[in-house]
Amino acid sequence: MKRIQNYIDGELCEPLGGKYLDNVEPATGQVYSQVPDSDERDVERATSAALAAFPGWSATPAADRSRLLCKIADLIDANLDRLAEAETIDNGKPITLARTLDIPRASENLRFFGTSVLHFHSESHATDNVAINYTLRKPRGVVGTISPWNLPLYLFTWKIAPALATGNTVVGKPSEVTPMTAFLLTELCREAGLPPGVLNVVHGLGPKAGAAIVKHPAITTISFTGGTATGAEIARTAAPMFKKMALELGGKNPNIIFADANMDAAIPGSVRAAFSNQGQVCLCGSRIFVERSAYKSFLTKFVEATGNLKIGDPLEPATQHGAMVSRPHYEKVLSYIELARQEGGDFICGGKNAPPPNERCKDGYFIEPTIITGLDVNCRVNREEIFGPLATVIPFDREDEVVEYANATDYGLSAAVWTENLSRAHRIADRIQAGTIWVNCWLLRDLRVPFGGMKQSGVGREGGQEALRFFTEPKNVCIATPKS
Ligand code: NDP
Repeated sequence: MKRIQNYIDGELCEPLGGKYLDNVEPATGQVYSQVPDSDERDVERATSAALAAFPGWSATPAADRSRLLCKIADLIDANLDRLAEAETIDNGKPITLARTLDIPRASENLRFFGTSVLHFHSESHATDNVAINYTLRKPRGVVGTISPWNLPLYLFTWKIAPALATGNTVVGKPSEVTPMTAFLLTELCREAGLPPGVLNVVHGLGPKAGAAIVKHPAITTISFTGGTATGAEIARTAAPMFKKMALELGGKNPNIIFADANMDAAIPGSVRAAFSNQGQVCLCGSRIFVERSAYKSFLTKFVEATGNLKIGDPLEPATQHGAMVSRPHYEKVLSYIELARQEGGDFICGGKNAPPPNERCKDGYFIEPTIITGLDVNCRVNREEIFGPLATVIPFDREDEVVEYANATDYGLSAAVWTENLSRAHRIADRIQAGTIWVNCWLLRDLRVPFGGMKQSGVGREGGQEALRFFTEPKNVCIATPKS
């Protein structure tokens, strides 16, 4: 059985404790590989390697760092099929999604940040005629990155690319639930000739390997994407150590449909927003609010379009809806379906585990895309992040009312609004408490824009210049210019 290895100081290596965890293919429920159960000794080794590599890497000209990151991006492209298949087996997501979204985005992340660092600039300020200030932006040192299982290589590279591009060295921990593509990436880093210690990957459990990264005194900066409760735990350790932190956390995002919306776009857009990646995207629009005059016809067409989603073996190219990532997560989502029943929801479609699509997948974790109406805006199903293929549909009458509904959660990651009324789109975009507002689209991402959440969806922003700034320390130099 394949054994994933840590990547420390340029070498692929066993965890020091010699322990491994089972890695399960969610579509089959079978163990198919093993992942290191690393502990703080492995994190210590990785951090020492990253510290040793920092002086050389931070002094490497940006153009050379850029070339290396672009070379890794090219290798990802050259290995697209292999990486997409690995992501699908590890995560349960449809192979077509992995081929067209996850893996291409991973190479784009490296190419985007690898080239944007060449254009990164800082400021200078002339203070009347008495001084000139200029700002240096220095890499922060050793950065810890911790990423989740839903978009494994996509989010892993989203963090390491700007960190490495700006001259930091990295100790990264992918989710132990989906470690495979980060492991394959480390093989590509070796092939590309990334100097030893610049990137180190320690696999293992969050509370063990992840927590060891967060509390290591030499790791100055933590970039985390994951659940809100984990983010709070990380902040409890890192904040008193004065570490710089970016926390990208959960979401419970509204998807608002006005009666004047172009339904030919709004309906498929809402299906994608609700059910992409089996609803396991932090940006999924799982609370759908529809203006009452369009409610019935929207619901009919939305249910019909959802019914056309092909649930299947994730390895089949035609599959649009694959397996949930793990048994515990599958059970969690089913428990929310049960809660929706207790809270009085009407199930318009779905509402249970899906029959296995074939013999191979007979023990897999499949759940039907589920649409529920009749729930109160403030019930638990409508307030808590479920992270599964479960959407609620709620009618509204007035603009003020829907803004209040949209803001009625502790989260504030994203929102989508569908309307042909431009003034209304601007008003709603202004009033919704979320870091990203999409108008007449969903998950249309430009890597240059600030990305992050308000309220309990996070602290800080990633993306474009925000990420380059986050991973650098501004230092102002003030030079007096005395008159002679
Ligand atoms: P978790 O918070 O459970 O885990 C995220 C990462 O943190 C994993 O690598 C995990 O390791 C690690 N971890 C867990 N506990 C600790 C700890 N005490 N100290 C350090 N690291 C720890 O999230 P999930 O993996 O379940 O991912 C789903 C969540 O991610 C959802 O809430 C989703 O909304 C959020 N998310 C947010 C995004 C955003 O941009 N805002 C984007 C994508 C997802 P391990 O898994 O190995 O235990």
